[in-house]
Amino acid sequence: MKESLDFIYKEQKELSHFGGIAALLGWDQMTYMPSKGSPARAEQISLISRLVHERVTSETFYQHLKGLYDEQNNLSEKDRIVVRKLFHDVEKARKIPSAFVEKMAKTTSIAYAVWQEAREKNTFTLFKPHLENIIELEKQYCEYVKLPGHPYNSLLDDYEEGMTVDVLRKEFAVLRKHLVEILQKITASIVYEKQHPVQMTFDAVQQKQLCDILLTRLNLPLDRARLDVSTHPFTTSLGDDDVRFTTNYQREGFLSSFFSTMHEAGHALYELGILKGEYKDTVISNAPSLGIHESQSRFWENMIARSKPFWMYFTPVFQRIAPDVCKDMNLESWYRSVNQVRPSLIRVEADELTYCLHVILRFELELDLLDEQITVAELPGHWNQKITDFLEVTPKTDRDGVLQDMHWSAGEFGYFPTYAIGTIYASQLFRQFSEDHPTAQDEITQGDFRTISQWLSKHVYQYGSLMTADDIIKKTCGEGLNSKVFITYLKEKYNLLYDV
Ligand code: ZN
Repeated sequence: MKESLDFIYKEQKELSHFGGIAALLGWDQMTYMPSKGSPARAEQISLISRLVHERVTSETFYQHLKGLYDEQNNLSEKDRIVVRKLFHDVEKARKIPSAFVEKMAKTTSIAYAVWQEAREKNTFTLFKPHLENIIELEKQYCEYVKLPGHPYNSLLDDYEEGMTVDVLRKEFAVLRKHLVEILQKITASIVYEKQHPVQMTFDAVQQKQLCDILLTRLNLPLDRARLDVSTHPFTTSLGDDDVRFTTNYQREGFLSSFFSTMHEAGHALYELGILKGEYKDTVISNAPSLGIHESQSRFWENMIARSKPFWMYFTPVFQRIAPDVCKDMNLESWYRSVNQVRPSLIRVEADELTYCLHVILRFELELDLLDEQITVAELPGHWNQKITDFLEVTPKTDRDGVLQDMHWSAGEFGYFPTYAIGTIYASQLFRQFSEDHPTAQDEITQGDFRTISQWLSKHVYQYGSLMTADDIIKKTCGEGLNSKVFITYLKEKYNLLYDV
């Protein structure tokens, strides 16, 4: 048993190093790599993925692990926890033949390039045959994994372990109905009618200064993390004390860099704070799901950075950094500006209220495609119809519609829902936090976020994958995913803002 334990811990450590190497290659590709480095980088990344897959699914690894799993009653508590989680993950990975993994990798790498071209040329038909291939592969994947219930459960489970179509259909149906209702009330209001798009431009130096102040207030340790620039902001972890996150000072959208820095800082704080200790370099020292990860970024971005106490602190800060731009702004106008509702076509530019409708739209379409309710050829039409129903805006081009996100070209069916799950979890965590610390608002007005960080650490970070996302939320908030909590939060906030 000792030999097997040594073996599986050594493997996990090396797999975690492989993960760090792949993350470094990916981070460099998105930040500093010259564009012609792309083909060689793709080969390097796919080599690492193949080596990882071979190791995870190797017979020797499995035999050691299976032996331990069968003898788990004789293991220490820590070893038992690691073995159970690892065995679960490896069993799942072994259901997928290597040939399939390779085929998926090839198909998606071609599809990604074609998607970029199709988006540029605004021609969905270029992408159509590739998406058809990917959907066939997704169906095959579901056949291999074969979790109980709807086939889509097998896709969801990769990102949100244990989540099911039944739960999401129920939660999203409620959420969709209320979001549309709230939105209709808002767009019919006088406040909405009178509102103008926020016209303020901060230069890159000012934006960077503001982001730096934000990171200082968050106590984000810059000897363990660094902020760079990329087209699409993201966060990745290269090691326990080396987290990279990015922002973009050129992007469209009011204060886009400030809010995306806050969003990514939420991910970075989680990565830096996640359970290590005796679980360092094991499967337990990871986020249990993407939904939990996203809950951390949304919590900071929406519940904190779009709140009034936050702007009590930041109104004078903005005034100091950019006096000319901010000369007409006060607390009330800042609060209104960062919470302006405006139905739009592009998910990543959506406001807090309409964002989840963009996600639900993709979830419904993914299910329809998988269930063969619609064909790929019909997809753009269905997309345009749905977004018109939800938001009363209609894309003039597929670039602003069905071609806007890269996820499908990467074979990431089942991924989108985690954005909404994370947003709902964030509201549940926020409600609980506010109950536990009713005076924390006063600290936020002073730019002091330590109580929040400590609370998140105690209720989310310290669990790593000791529990599933669902169990963490149940333990902390007293119930699992509940979109009604998010709806209540939105109503309380937006009814006041729009006087409806
Ligand atoms: Zn995120």
